[in-house]
Amino acid sequence: MNLKNLNKIIEKEPAFRKKQIEKLIYQDAIDNWDKATVLSLKLREELKKETSLEIKAEIFESKETKKALITLEDRYQIETVLMKHDDRTTVCVSSQVGCALGCKFCATGKLGLKRNLEVEEILEQVLVFKRKEKVNNIVFMGMGEPFLNYDNVLKATKILNSENAFNIGARHISISTVGITEGIEKLSNENLQVNLAISLHAPNNNLRTKIMPVSQKYSLENVLKAINEYIKKTNRKVMFEYTLIKGVNDSIENAKELAKIMRHPLYMVNLIKYNDTEEFKAPTTEKIKNFKNYLEKVGINVTERYRFGGDIHAACGQLCLKK
Ligand code: SAH
Ligand code: SF4
Repeated sequence: MNLKNLNKIIEKEPAFRKKQIEKLIYQDAIDNWDKATVLSLKLREELKKETSLEIKAEIFESKETKKALITLEDRYQIETVLMKHDDRTTVCVSSQVGCALGCKFCATGKLGLKRNLEVEEILEQVLVFKRKEKVNNIVFMGMGEPFLNYDNVLKATKILNSENAFNIGARHISISTVGITEGIEKLSNENLQVNLAISLHAPNNNLRTKIMPVSQKYSLENVLKAINEYIKKTNRKVMFEYTLIKGVNDSIENAKELAKIMRHPLYMVNLIKYNDTEEFKAPTTEKIKNFKNYLEKVGINVTERYRFGGDIHAACGQLCLKK
């Protein structure tokens, strides 16, 4: 999709045209300007010449999920996943091509950062599915760190939320971050009801730094401070994602330490079974059960499914392993 020249065209039009075209692209999800019959033929021809609604994507389908491999204008590729649940259909979107933060267990981290995604590149990941079926839940859990592309992620979020565009309720949009504190603070001032999720994955800074080098700069202590400020301002729940990795963070000792820092009425812990890679494996089902039982026993809010997005999480964490 290429909408770089769109503003230039809209500028010459009466004011309502902008909304009309936004609705056509994002709400009606047209894939061809010929379908925009509410516009004059002349305008349609101009839009055809100056912009493109084409999304270059290959779709792979399995029973519950669909994956789209999108090729961007500069040939970089991003993956996006759609997952169906009884009550909702979730799309997991990427915010960057690759990621700079190099978490040890993450396939995206191995790619390094190529570049930030533009607003329309974030949105076309949703459109590619919306053109064929209903989408009503979004998680920013694909490739990249959303808060290191804050402005574009927020602009995209507002369009996803806009009644004239995707019309997806803010409560059905979740942003996952490793804990970029500046981003957490900014989000708390946006007056948006989106969900915030923190990729925690370790109960202390020492272990966390080993598997998530970003913890050197954004220590666990400072991340939790930022979260508490966020909660004070917004009074919203925060989801802590804890991916259980065999022999790394899955012991009862780890659970005990985790319980100590997760004791807060608005903290939710979400345990995720690691999706095996060459280097790391998931713990046994029994080990996961014990970990969860311990947390429950001591009164921590814990789930084993991603509340905001079903079990899409694991699939997201695996995006774009291959070229
Ligand atoms: N960069 C942001 C957004 C990506 S979310 C963040 O890290 O929060 C993707 C989630 O999938 C992260 O919580 C990540 O830790 C997790 N993840 C990565 N690889 C995974 C794997 N193999 N199995 C399960 N979860 C994984
Ligand atoms: Fe980047 Fe998130 Fe993967 Fe870490 S887990 S490397 S922050 S995408």
